[in-house]
Amino acid sequence: MSSPDYSDPAEAVCAPTDGSPITRAAFVPIDRNYQVCTRCVMDTTDPEIDFDEHGVCNHCRHFDSVIKSQWPTLEQGGLLLTNMIETLKLQGTGKSYDCIIGLSGGVDSSYCALKVAEWGLRPLVVHVDAGWNSELAVMNIEQICKRLGFDLVTHVIDWEEMRDMQLAFLRSNLANQDAPQDHAFFAALYGYAEKAGIKYVINGSNFATESILPRAWGYDAMDATLLKGIHSRFGTRPRGKFPVINFFDLYVKYPHLLKMEVLKPLNFLPYRKQDAIETLERDLGWRYYGGKHFESRWSRFFQAYYLPYKFGYDKRKAHLSSLILDGQMDRSDALDALNQPLYDERLLLEDKTFIAKKLKLSVAEFEDLINQPIRHYSEYPNHQKKLRVIRYVYRTIRKMISTILGR
Ligand SMILES: [Zn+2]
Repeated sequence: MSSPDYSDPAEAVCAPTDGSPITRAAFVPIDRNYQVCTRCVMDTTDPEIDFDEHGVCNHCRHFDSVIKSQWPTLEQGGLLLTNMIETLKLQGTGKSYDCIIGLSGGVDSSYCALKVAEWGLRPLVVHVDAGWNSELAVMNIEQICKRLGFDLVTHVIDWEEMRDMQLAFLRSNLANQDAPQDHAFFAALYGYAEKAGIKYVINGSNFATESILPRAWGYDAMDATLLKGIHSRFGTRPRGKFPVINFFDLYVKYPHLLKMEVLKPLNFLPYRKQDAIETLERDLGWRYYGGKHFESRWSRFFQAYYLPYKFGYDKRKAHLSSLILDGQMDRSDALDALNQPLYDERLLLEDKTFIAKKLKLSVAEFEDLINQPIRHYSEYPNHQKKLRVIRYVYRTIRKMISTILGR
């Protein structure tokens, strides 16, 4: 199959955000018939989706054939959890901390923090303030650390540097407008881990609520080549101290030289989103803010407006499908939820005005940027080629070692 040609700019999709069905999306052939999976709610707005003879999509099939085999059973999870806690405590003996957690104030990372306290671990908690925090997120973070007695470091990104990076991304017209915020978050987190000599990074990612995320709806936020390339083309001031993880650090230094490990303990226990929310509200005075990643005002606008309106990508379809596959939601309830507007109209106007003002744009200038033709990441410098080389090198080394050892 030849790779698609994305060299011509395509018009913004301008999809409806009022709950009317979104059936058209960026980088999907115009003559493709609209189709929804018969098991989940993923559809042909995912450019790479395919269906079997029963109308079941590749995401559902991947869940059955790959994710289920990687997801520990309750019994295996219990053993893995016990081992993880013992290892962390042992490795952390004599040190100030045995692990690090990046806390956004959202459900997954907050619940992770609560469990870590129950397990008797001593984390350093890092929060990265990229300027978009909702007041509720800040309250949640402070409340969690105070109640659980955790040390909290808040890393504040220089706003002028963040603004320039975010504007550069907007001018790039790419789908992954959450990359500056996400990249800065992980770069700062790993930086603190290295400085404090912490090897274990506790992460709230989980199969139960995030088993589906179409590759074509975004792009790797950790690609520093893309981040720097976009900034040097569209930025207007030096990048300054904006936290960046370069390729070598991400793929060689952190995992192999410093032997840092990212642990995802929510996969070791039964994790139900609704139960987690209730527990957090009851035990920590935590408050819900209404949607996945809505703890950041930018993320809310990006996920509930920019991405669906400009590209036709409604991430609710992936989140709801993950919950369906885990048995946490009925397909019919998910379809009903998708008929709800993506945004409350007044809140959208408020957020749009707030974000435009913060970016020092008029609302009309901001809307003009949003309506520019869309682009694909492959049109910009990126680390995909380097990644293929390094994966090939690792595979070859592994093969050589197993040949030498006769395994
Ligand atoms: Zn499906």
